[in-house]
Amino acid sequence: MLDQPSALIDIRGVCRSFPKGSGEQLLVLERVDLTIRSGEIVGLLGRSGSGKSTLLRIIAGLLAPSTGRATCRGEIIAGPPNGVAMVFQSFALFPWLTVLQNVELGLEALGVDATERRKRALAAIDLIGLDGFESAFPRELSGGMCQRVGFARALVVHPDLLLMDEPFSALDVLTAETLRTDLIDLWIEGRLPIKSVLMVTHNIEEAVLMCDRILVFSSNPGRVAAEIKVELPHPRNRLDPHFRLLVDSIYARMTQRSEPKAPAIEGIPSTGVGMTLHHVSSNVLSGLIETLANAPYNGHADLPDLASQLQLEADEILHLGESLQLLRLAQLSEGDLVLTEAGKRFAHLETDARKRLFAEHLVTYVPLMGLIRRVLDERPTHTAPAARFRNELEDYMSEDYAAETLKTIVSWGRYSELLAYDEQSETFSLENPG
Ligand code: ADP
Ligand code: MG
Repeated sequence: MLDQPSALIDIRGVCRSFPKGSGEQLLVLERVDLTIRSGEIVGLLGRSGSGKSTLLRIIAGLLAPSTGRATCRGEIIAGPPNGVAMVFQSFALFPWLTVLQNVELGLEALGVDATERRKRALAAIDLIGLDGFESAFPRELSGGMCQRVGFARALVVHPDLLLMDEPFSALDVLTAETLRTDLIDLWIEGRLPIKSVLMVTHNIEEAVLMCDRILVFSSNPGRVAAEIKVELPHPRNRLDPHFRLLVDSIYARMTQRSEPKAPAIEGIPSTGVGMTLHHVSSNVLSGLIETLANAPYNGHADLPDLASQLQLEADEILHLGESLQLLRLAQLSEGDLVLTEAGKRFAHLETDARKRLFAEHLVTYVPLMGLIRRVLDERPTHTAPAARFRNELEDYMSEDYAAETLKTIVSWGRYSELLAYDEQSETFSLENPG
């Protein structure tokens, strides 16, 4: 395995640090290993700040590793290697050049003559769906079209490796999806003049949709924590149970905290961001846990019994039970509701400690809460409009369910002090920033 003849890029034990303000070094990449071969789309998936762009810049020859070895076709990368092109998140077009001129630019540096330049640029523009916009200026184009120009400019050099740094993240949901689908279609049909792709993303679904192999990056410092092969045939369907399963498992991996993990409970359905949360108040949930913990139940209740004692309808008690199960505070099994160890602990805690336990479970087991917290953490303002998440939820469920799910997250988030929500502006913010 030492010498992979087909390895286009080989990264071995690469570390990279940057000087911090204090003069100390910040270790951003720690012993990263990565191989890219011809014919594959590889995803680099990690949270913001995990060092993905840094690694990409090392591969693009824009940055040297502090230690370790980065090679392209067996040669140490020193400066931009031949046959590697990059698409950036921000489109980085020259505003004073037309679409055609922006695309041709990629070839000028290579010394391709004018006629050939024109021919290849027109072909790339056509391929990427910008036919007719050759003489338009970037300001006349939508964001999606600008990013298509960015792609055309990278494709025109016929690179062996296309590096993409979150290329869809500046686009709206629909535009991003159209562009992803167009690219994958072209790739599958063998019409892209490229041999392999390395794509950086923090979007799990995007990685599962597009990649043959996903490297999950951990943060602080960035390391390859897992490698996941995606063997689903194209075109991939986001609603396919296998797709969901993969998303869920990656999600679980990425939301894992450094705290010891609660043991998995059998029979709990796997979950994703797109799961409906029934609106059950946290007060009712605490009350139910207390009832369950005390006599006559002592941690174990028959559901019909419980329902009649609490004067609840079957579907109400099921929603309550499912919520507790989702939060791993109780487990539903064969018509019984049984407190977990965490649930028993919860029953005997003081108010503040209950909130903390609830918060821990909420962040760990409810992917939507993980997502919202991540977005809030990443944004400099630590705020985010509810619409940002409503749109995402509406990819999976009806408007009413999306609204109910958000309402639930707001009330659980407030109780656990994981987030604050302003009804007026419909904005989430961090309860305790930093
Ligand atoms: P990602 O692309 O995963 O969001 P980056 O690679 O951009 O992460 O950054 C990883 C970390 O390295 C961040 O903490 C960032 O502040 C730091 N960093 C990146 N480039 C530099 C630089 N040139 N100088 C100092 N720190 C840097
Ligand atoms: Mg980045």
